[in-house]
Amino acid sequence: MICSNCKEKTAVYNRKYSGQKLCKKCFCKSIERKVAKTITKYKMVSKNDKIAYGLSGGKDSVTLLYIMDKMQREHKNFSIDIITVDEGIEKYREDSIKIVDQIVENLNLNYNLVTFKELYGFTLDEIVKILIKKGDLETKACSYCGVLRRRALNNTAKELGAKKLATAHNLDDEAETILMNITRSDITRLLRYDPIPYEKHPHFVPRIKPFREIPEKEITLYAYYKNLPIHSIECPYASESMRRNIKTVMSILEQKNPSVKFNLLKFYDQIFMKNQADLQKFDSFKACIKCNEPTSSEICKFCELMEKIS
Ligand SMILES: [Zn+2]
Ligand SMILES: [Zn+2]
Repeated sequence: MICSNCKEKTAVYNRKYSGQKLCKKCFCKSIERKVAKTITKYKMVSKNDKIAYGLSGGKDSVTLLYIMDKMQREHKNFSIDIITVDEGIEKYREDSIKIVDQIVENLNLNYNLVTFKELYGFTLDEIVKILIKKGDLETKACSYCGVLRRRALNNTAKELGAKKLATAHNLDDEAETILMNITRSDITRLLRYDPIPYEKHPHFVPRIKPFREIPEKEITLYAYYKNLPIHSIECPYASESMRRNIKTVMSILEQKNPSVKFNLLKFYDQIFMKNQADLQKFDSFKACIKCNEPTSSEICKFCELMEKIS
């Protein structure tokens, strides 16, 4: 099987959704080109932007950083500040911090490590212990982790003066989130994911997802070909059973229709673009009565969660 791009080398990857058969080199180039195209298409980066980058040490986040750092060195039209959040999950996070250190050492980028313990007074492990002690078996560690991480990343990015906050969510994550919010009939949450970054509120640094059109499988393959150091242990608290169900459904659909994830994303973008003015009404903010940060209800999710463990 010969590469359908260079017509020279042996193809190693069959891209079912496009019909291309690619050699190793053309495959890697195609990923880098797709990321650059996504950034341009969704106006993710403006000239001389400082981009805050959430680096976890996992496959997606390491790979996107590798590609964006390469871009930044070639074009010199934006800069990257790395932010790593240590949630305080024994063993799991210690291992990933080692990988993060190794990556950071080899890059000439500004690096910031923040911890839940310093920011909020508790590690995630401690929060889980308190919940168990209080007999709260409903609230999951992932709810805390998601909300606390988001706040840590946003506030650190804000302090650094970053114009955007980049995360490595991929096509699978995005398509799953869209489908999940549809099945839950949660329109507010569904419409929270703006493809084109805009400032919802001066306190929030606009988020960008340059991997939103890259399937997870292709990121794994790219990382493997580039021999990137990766932390691949699953988080001990990973328990989003709903997402797991959606993943199963998605892979069944994908067997018959290799473009199904792209179609979901395209469908979402069309809804978003056509109704952008109306949709922004969803973003009417008040100040949280406890912490003063912008929220859509009386008290923000962060304060609601912190109250449960106080
Ligand atoms: Zn080729
Ligand atoms: Zn609050």
